[in-house]
Amino acid sequence: MEIAIFSSTPYERRYLDEANANGHHRLNFFEVPLTAESAGLAVGYPAVCIFVNDRADAQVLEALQQGGTRLVALRCTGFNNVDLEAAARLGMNVVRVVDYSPNSVAEHAVALLLAINRKIHRAYNRTRDSNYSLDGLIGFDLTGKTVAVVGTGKIGRVFAKIMLGFGCEVIGYDPVPSREFEALGTRYAAPGEIGERADVISLHCPLTPATHHIINAETLSRAKPGALLINTSRGALIDTKAVIEALKTGQLGGVAIDVYEQEANLFFRDLSSVVIADDLIQRLVSFPNVIVTGHQAFLTREALTTICERTLQSATAFEQGQTLENEIKAP
Ligand code: NAD
Repeated sequence: MEIAIFSSTPYERRYLDEANANGHHRLNFFEVPLTAESAGLAVGYPAVCIFVNDRADAQVLEALQQGGTRLVALRCTGFNNVDLEAAARLGMNVVRVVDYSPNSVAEHAVALLLAINRKIHRAYNRTRDSNYSLDGLIGFDLTGKTVAVVGTGKIGRVFAKIMLGFGCEVIGYDPVPSREFEALGTRYAAPGEIGERADVISLHCPLTPATHHIINAETLSRAKPGALLINTSRGALIDTKAVIEALKTGQLGGVAIDVYEQEANLFFRDLSSVVIADDLIQRLVSFPNVIVTGHQAFLTREALTTICERTLQSATAFEQGQTLENEIKAP
């Protein structure tokens, strides 16, 4: 089947080509993201393959459908960028990749936590400039601290397990509690207790209307002063302006994020020679106690291999009229 791959990068292309070593599908790579303007590139393609910041809203889906596209294959887990109701109305199938490597994302969340707590980003810069001063580099022992996991699904549970290994007390919040999470030796807590007790809050829930800006001025005002906030899930879980205020007052002791509300305008490209118009990201990266990575939590060899293999398996299943295991539908 002919598949139009949007937002393609050289490193992903290698893994997609490997997953398609038998040449079953014809993959055409477009570096541009899928938008209303670029949707025309997919005319004649029965399937398009998209990533986290491609836009598959009603307008784009209508254009794709008119061009003959029937399958939208997300090569990621989150699907907040797809209008599922429009897809259903247009008779299009939407698939995603789940459980490709919860370890990749959870381990990146831990890497961010360790780096922001022990100021590794600052130490790295200093020693490259022969500055071996330790001023301002004091962190805290993780052992004995309380870590809150918001969203105790696959990634949240791996993160919790690692934090338990550090000797932390792990508490969780999820409207759909999981026995597997509690069996690790954790417990669920109400949002109020999370605010009061958590030294670290790590977000692992999907972006939905209910979770949009769950970290906001009001919830931050109830956070333990000096708490660290980690977000490897989706940018719009956080009201960035409120987080900037909480950093300025010291209510938050540090923030480490792999995702950002307006990342579609920034991430996955080199903008080092460009004047950035987004004042919020510029303010964020100016704090000494903020680390931003550009949506790379999934970026391990293992995750890329599985993502690409499963995406093409879904395309084959669609082509052969089989049940689509990882299909997503409007609720
Ligand atoms: P999952 O479906 O296994 O778990 C998500 C959990 O969040 C579920 O248990 C769900 O009940 C819970 N949840 C839903 N609404 C909630 C709310 N209001 N408050 C708290 N919890 C809530 O998903 P997963 O595989 O663990 O992935 C989690 C998220 O991680 C994805 O939705 C995606 O946005 C993000 N992600 C990021 C990257 C990256 O590279 N940064 C990669 C993969 C996934």
